[in-house]
Amino acid sequence: MPGKPKNQIPSLAKLRRQYPTEAACRAFLEELRWPQGPFCPHCGSYAHWALNGDSCRPGLKECADCHRQYTVTTKTPLHATKLPLWTWIQAIYLVLTSSKGISSVVMARLLGTTQATAWRMGHAIREMMHHRYDIGPALSGTIEIDVKYLGGAPK
Ligand SMILES: [Zn+2]
Repeated sequence: MPGKPKNQIPSLAKLRRQYPTEAACRAFLEELRWPQGPFCPHCGSYAHWALNGDSCRPGLKECADCHRQYTVTTKTPLHATKLPLWTWIQAIYLVLTSSKGISSVVMARLLGTTQATAWRMGHAIREMMHHRYDIGPALSGTIEIDVKYLGGAPK
């Protein structure tokens, strides 16, 4: 990254040490999307409770106002993804740290996905970056970036 000290960008290996499990990756994405705490993507309410039963999807919450359920990926391009969240985090990292962009061919090779999957991820990530959520604060000290992330605003 021209003009930026190299030590501001951690290696993927370091990120993996910080986020070694799907649960840790989910917590990371929650921190990115919800720096002020989770809010309902359906009605914008912050009031919620976590659903922790064995039959529940990980990270599932129920809104205390509209009673609809959601997770950190609801109403984002990551919703219903079959890919591990770690694959998404790596893809986000590659897009954000490639100042001239990264081709789906290269991304597929680095992530071990098909090119079609890498293309869809790249498209989804660029779409998220056009939304109005700033992931800068959550990543300060992690990745020095200035982008907009995951859509949906609290009321
Ligand atoms: Zn709600």
